[in-house]
Amino acid sequence: MTASASRLRADIDFDRPGKQRGFLNLSHSVHRSAYGLIRIPIACIANGSGPTVLLTAGNHGDEYEGQLAVLKFLDAVEPDQIAGRLIVIPSLNYPAAMAGTRTSPLDDGNLNRAFPGARDGTPTQMIAHYVERELLPMVQIGLDMHSGGSSLEYVPASLSRWPDDPRQREQLLALHRIFGAEVALIAETAQDDRTLSAAGLRSGGLHFACEIGGGGTVTARSLAVAERGLRNFLAHVGVLAGVTPAAVAPARQMVIGGPDYYVYAPSRGLFEPAFMLGDIVKAGQTAGFIHFRDEPDRPPRRLEFRRDGKVVCRRVPAPVEPGDCICQLASDRPGSG
Ligand SMILES: [Zn+2]
Repeated sequence: MTASASRLRADIDFDRPGKQRGFLNLSHSVHRSAYGLIRIPIACIANGSGPTVLLTAGNHGDEYEGQLAVLKFLDAVEPDQIAGRLIVIPSLNYPAAMAGTRTSPLDDGNLNRAFPGARDGTPTQMIAHYVERELLPMVQIGLDMHSGGSSLEYVPASLSRWPDDPRQREQLLALHRIFGAEVALIAETAQDDRTLSAAGLRSGGLHFACEIGGGGTVTARSLAVAERGLRNFLAHVGVLAGVTPAAVAPARQMVIGGPDYYVYAPSRGLFEPAFMLGDIVKAGQTAGFIHFRDEPDRPPRRLEFRRDGKVVCRRVPAPVEPGDCICQLASDRPGSG
């Protein structure tokens, strides 16, 4: 064990065939539990030869479609359906998941802004460090399932970066096609390097994500898209053996560009939307109005879209503060036909 090894300890053996369920144990010595542990559920299903795939959800604790899809899949899957090794963590930032919050109640840590993490950091930083230093080197392919969380709602979208390697680009485009979301968001411009997807690319693997639903809830429709996407993904990469991916309609390949793709609240108030999630909108079109409850004689403030696009994400709570993101647009990816 080198000095840089993580402080988390898995109580399952990643080299053992079969289906194991256990915990990643992280020492957390606090007033009410001096020798306490944070126990993050983990499973490993291994059988024969094939890729090692990491399946994660609950990176943000208040995103439920992925956590449910992963829990249901994990219950159902048997080792003889697996070719290779599947490592499954249904609620990666477990303290946040138990609190039903995006960030951890222990350190306010946003796990998807914490990579590469820190061995001796806060609990969220230590989870990121374990994933980047110990798990990702074992993994060839990753799927990290997200949603809009409590404050946002997304159209069903698959999501990836755009690596330099042309072979990886083709593999990612194939994954977008097979995942079967309404929209395939492809991030061709520079992205935050503190995410799990960024860590996965640093490790040399193929890493994929999704943003499906949100709003602090789950609908039958959003969960169905997440479950079908998950199974199609695992079948396509070969770790789910003998399964033909379900037929899906082609996703619309889109990009999210610069600041003009976003509408932000400039004032505190109640937001009245003039659009629906998924709408196609034009530059100059009214996005909605902010109403001022504390200044009844002040006229509502009109907000407009600054460019053409499709509304792929919207804020859910009506009360807004200056700087809250009200919606996010995407535009068709050049050359995607
Ligand atoms: Zn998320």
